[in-house]
Amino acid sequence: MKSAVENLQAVRLAIGQAEREAGRKAGSVELVAVSKTFDAEEIRPVLEAGHRVFGENRVQEAQGKWPGLKEAFSGIELHLIGPLQSNKAKEAVALFDVIETVDREKIAAALATEMRKQAKTPRLYVQVNTGLEPQKAGIDPRETAAFVARCREVHGLAIEGLMCIPPVEENPGPHFALLSKLARETGLDKLSMGMSGDYETAIGFGATSVRVGSAIFGQRA
Ligand SMILES: *Cc1c(COP(=O)(O)O)cnc(C)c1O
Repeated sequence: MKSAVENLQAVRLAIGQAEREAGRKAGSVELVAVSKTFDAEEIRPVLEAGHRVFGENRVQEAQGKWPGLKEAFSGIELHLIGPLQSNKAKEAVALFDVIETVDREKIAAALATEMRKQAKTPRLYVQVNTGLEPQKAGIDPRETAAFVARCREVHGLAIEGLMCIPPVEENPGPHFALLSKLARETGLDKLSMGMSGDYETAIGFGATSVRVGSAIFGQRA
């Protein structure tokens, strides 16, 4: 089995290759290393190898490992990529630098309140449920533009981009294309899409960041 650091290098190379194939600038795609379920000791070598951008899907789990790592390593950028409950908005604003899962009015309001209180401005993405899956978080694609506008106008939140998780059993291409189209229509230029199985495809559709977990850290238990 290869180490996380070896896997990280391989994923970086594959991202570079996908950027070239898509005719995109080298370094235009950011790699978010998804460290959910892996503990601080498993993450540490990846930090020591110089990587700084990580994703976690649970606020509570992240609170258990990242404050210590943030003390030990400077320049860490932590992304929340899992569903957010409004009663966790306070902790999320305190810990995360990017929150990718804004998907309803109640969360937008709770984040706005906490950002004012803490004088912190994490960067924000709206999650879109491109497959309209009932069990999945994210806003209906048809309501995305109106929701982004309400985030701005009603809650004073600057939304930076859109995020999606395509249905597992489907070809992800059309979902990436839809997210890209919605971003264009909404005047947003950041797209968080693509995971271990499909990040190269996502880069072809314009992803500006990819969220890669198991291809770096190995299979999750
Ligand atoms: C776990 C997770 C990932 C990473 O998935 P892999 O298939 O392990 O790369 C990406 N995005 C979200 C939202 C996740 O929850």
